[in-house]
Amino acid sequence: MYCGREGVSDTADHVIARGFFLPSERVDLPKVPACTTCNNMKSHLEHHLLTILPFGARQAAAARTLNDLVPGRLARNVPLHRALLDEWNRQWQGEYAQRWTPEMKLPLDSSKVSRLCEYMMTGLAWLHWGVDLTEPTQVRASFFHPTAVRTLESLFLNERWGAKIEEDIGAGTMTYRAVQDSLAPSRTFWRFTLYGIVVGDAIGFPGVRADTIYGVSNPPQ
Ligand SMILES: [Zn+2]
Repeated sequence: MYCGREGVSDTADHVIARGFFLPSERVDLPKVPACTTCNNMKSHLEHHLLTILPFGARQAAAARTLNDLVPGRLARNVPLHRALLDEWNRQWQGEYAQRWTPEMKLPLDSSKVSRLCEYMMTGLAWLHWGVDLTEPTQVRASFFHPTAVRTLESLFLNERWGAKIEEDIGAGTMTYRAVQDSLAPSRTFWRFTLYGIVVGDAIGFPGVRADTIYGVSNPPQ
């Protein structure tokens, strides 16, 4: 479902990783066929992000997500645990000398978040609409500068969109909104939030914060 190769799917992948959610919220998460290579690459990405993102969680179950799910993941990933502690120490020392800020920052490669959203766009488009977004369809997702958000949101209102989806899974743990062009099925537009996290400096602008990932798919030229 992700690489678009025919006849290689030998696993079933949860499009939205079960690990995002508390065990009580893991019901009926959809699966798609996937090859072992894609499934492993996506799992690796998910494990990394699901260890870091809950530190920034702001949704209703944020505290339980962090307390119940993250310690086990940190224990299984010592290099990541060490990297997070190093960053925390470095920041504490730096901040302590200058001023105190009531927040903690952790290193996050936002391109990994984008990549995961691109996987989810591909899987969800197939589940909801039966449309194939694999190559050569272009699929891109990204955080955007906040000044772009109003324009991006206005795109959802365009009357040419056909099918529309709006989902909130786990009371804000993960939300997505998507629309599909009725005339070109592989043209789709998406908005994701994950745990309600806010990223800083995500799009190359120091101090600029973003909390929403937008994605678009375009048919082959
Ligand atoms: Zn594959």
